[in-house]
Amino acid sequence: MKAIRRFSVRPVLPPRIAALGDLAMNLRWSWHPPVRDLFESIDPQRWAEVGADPVALLSATSVERLDELAADEGFAVRVDEAKADLDRYLGEDRWYQRFSAEQGDAGAPRSIAYFSPEYGIAAALPQYSGGLGILAGDHLKSASDIGVPIVGVGLFYKTGYFRQSLNRDGWQQETYPVLDPDDLPLSLLREEDGTPSIVTLRLPGGRELRAQVWRAQVGRVPLLLLDSDVPGNDDAMRAVTERLYGGGGEQRLQQELLLGMGGVRALRLWSRLTGAPAPDVYHSNEGHAGFLAIERISELVTGYDLSFDEALEQVRAATVFTTHTPVPAGIDRFERSLIEVYFGGDLALPGVPVDRLLELGAEKYEGGDPAVFNMAVLGLHIAQRANGVSKLHGVVSRDMFDGLWPGFDSDEVPITSITNGVHAPTWVDRKVYDLASSHADVLEQDAANPLETRDAWSRLADLPRADVWTTKRELRSQLVDEARARVRASWIERGASPAELGWTDEILDPDVLTIGFARRVPTYKRLTLMLRDPERLKKILTDPERPVQIVIAGKSHPADDTGKQLIQQMVRFTDDPEVRHRIAFLPNYDIAMAQHLYPGCDVWLNNPLRPFEASGTSGMKAALNGALNLSILDGWWDEWFDGQNGWAIPTADGVDDPDRRDDIEANALYDLIEGQVAPRFYDVDEEDLPQNWLAMVLHTVSTLGPKVLATRMVGEYTERLYVPAARAGWALSRDDHAGARALAAYIEKARSAWPGVRVDHVESSGLGDSPEIGETLTVATYVSLGELSPEDVEVQIVHGRANGGDELHDVTTVPMRLEESYEQGRRKFVGEVTLGTSGAFGYTVRILPKHDGLATPATLGLVATA
Ligand SMILES: *Cc1c(COP(=O)(O)O)cnc(C)c1O
Repeated sequence: MKAIRRFSVRPVLPPRIAALGDLAMNLRWSWHPPVRDLFESIDPQRWAEVGADPVALLSATSVERLDELAADEGFAVRVDEAKADLDRYLGEDRWYQRFSAEQGDAGAPRSIAYFSPEYGIAAALPQYSGGLGILAGDHLKSASDIGVPIVGVGLFYKTGYFRQSLNRDGWQQETYPVLDPDDLPLSLLREEDGTPSIVTLRLPGGRELRAQVWRAQVGRVPLLLLDSDVPGNDDAMRAVTERLYGGGGEQRLQQELLLGMGGVRALRLWSRLTGAPAPDVYHSNEGHAGFLAIERISELVTGYDLSFDEALEQVRAATVFTTHTPVPAGIDRFERSLIEVYFGGDLALPGVPVDRLLELGAEKYEGGDPAVFNMAVLGLHIAQRANGVSKLHGVVSRDMFDGLWPGFDSDEVPITSITNGVHAPTWVDRKVYDLASSHADVLEQDAANPLETRDAWSRLADLPRADVWTTKRELRSQLVDEARARVRASWIERGASPAELGWTDEILDPDVLTIGFARRVPTYKRLTLMLRDPERLKKILTDPERPVQIVIAGKSHPADDTGKQLIQQMVRFTDDPEVRHRIAFLPNYDIAMAQHLYPGCDVWLNNPLRPFEASGTSGMKAALNGALNLSILDGWWDEWFDGQNGWAIPTADGVDDPDRRDDIEANALYDLIEGQVAPRFYDVDEEDLPQNWLAMVLHTVSTLGPKVLATRMVGEYTERLYVPAARAGWALSRDDHAGARALAAYIEKARSAWPGVRVDHVESSGLGDSPEIGETLTVATYVSLGELSPEDVEVQIVHGRANGGDELHDVTTVPMRLEESYEQGRRKFVGEVTLGTSGAFGYTVRILPKHDGLATPATLGLVATA
């Protein structure tokens, strides 16, 4: 019956309980249990069938049942209360409102646009593939909880990412269930006359890409999702937003055009239709949305008569870029020729010459490919403020991109870091939450005060250990049930008959030490590291005294056969009757599974190839549920492992042979499980409590808990990036963009004058023959500034430890002052350094551009050294 055309009829709710519609459409239900309970009580069985999804539940509820509920005054009052609670949540002042009032005249942004290619908000809105999307979802939810005025921008993918299953041989199968937006918590942006609002982009060949805009409401945060499946688009255009990370180069480019440029246009629509303020700050979560800057440059050139360079500076000031991957293959790169086709000729945006655009994404560094346009490079060029997602990833990113700032040491590369966090109300199991909140209102405190020390958390160290242990057993048991059902269902899909699947009812054991491992399956995450020595793993799993069980999940990108082979290898191991009661692979890792998996585990395993895990967040979610991390010191764990909150798997960083490295690290992993993890877990006292284990769990929850929160993360983004970016933007836009014009003029002058800027001579005085701490070194330097004046530059003494070689370590800079001016732009500067530490001391002198509009001294990549 191919000709069937389907559409959904949204239920008409009886007026007395019409607020159910509002409650279903605001995704706050996904992290607010009372609303979920309310929906569940409508029809518990249906609720389970539709996967805890209020919109689907309402669609599936009969008119009679709805009328019955409306007549039930008890139910109706619960609806009223839930609605009143939602209204309060949406309307009351939260942390940001207080914070922004404290900023006084300096101001704080009224609106921040957050762009991301994927969002993992709820199982009911499957628009994510993995960590990046989950992080974006957690960012929006936490922003909502603390009142930060974000508006999200993304794409609506009709088939989302894929659903994973296995065939008989354990090979990953992908299916793409089609989503109907009418069945989802989405509403269409419409013009006043009711017609859908449309965003249009011009494409090569005279074609147009049209998109409508869905709005999801994530608590207080609106999320705008562009959808190209609209009348007027040809089939290829309709397919642009069909799949997340589907399609090849050109389709990916079209998606990113729609996300970046279309996204800005959607924001303009949103402001026009709702009166919402235009964003003061634009944040690109990973490089995919970088074209947002190109659209804004064009707006400024045409609307305010700025030059390209002036507009670029205006845009850069108020843009934030977060890089997420130290894996070069994870970065989007397009053929330059493709960019020329999409942005050149008569497709060139007004005010944006294609060669200027190409420069912004050019890999102009050693090893760069001149034929390529790099979206991470674009991201760094369009944002004055950039960050990595853990301290270690900050270091790695500065190294990775230091070629863009030649002349600077990598620690001066203007990329900072803000360590990721997770949204506790989404990820903390209700049982854990109830136990914890009987002791302390930790989450309420976080929403009120995301950046301050939290005493409430330290009180969790005193949770009654017996209660903690009982709760963990319940969670383990919950996971065991879930795993049995999933393994059974998977075997039925793999072609087994129910009669041969009796064994699946007995796999795993709620009293056995449970290790979890779930993530996407790119090679660097090393899904199969634990299989290096299969016999040894078998022994660990089936140890008669101290057995261990492992629950595994993960999807491979559909185009990645290597990843699928790893999954197959893993699945085949788990199929072995000797071990299948102790190790299980659960297909289709997603939010719904994750919410069972983390709480049910005692140990969360992560063994990436250091340093390729930018942050990782699954271990944070596990920790909040009382699991201990067992991980390579990579990403966030490198920063927050403290010796008592889990275990660090030693890395063989220096070993070049990857096989040998895997062997060494796998052995270290086995040693840790056998020698430390299992013995501690099974070491129980006379009351059957593993006191030493529980001590670690309580230490983890009480000290790591407050660090890993996304409220802390969003608070940091706000203070360290959004507020400075907004102010930098305002400083340039005031008085008809006078600041942007002046900054662009300064940059042009500095760039053209720079060849004439140099350090001619350095001399020093003041130290004895064998200098001691406390003595003062006086440095004088003679410099040529060419066309620049002394106010245009900063002349610095750069000093630090000199351990041989060309580099200084632990560097400090001291500005020098102008002492005398001579003819032809020659100047003398002087400065002093008081020796503060013993050991080898080294110093040099350098000249940097100086202007209030530059976020850092390295921003322009200009430097003259002695
Ligand atoms: C948290 C989460 C991830 C990301 O985990 P990593 O530790 O970053 O690999 C991926 N998928 C789902 C479903 C998650 O909940």
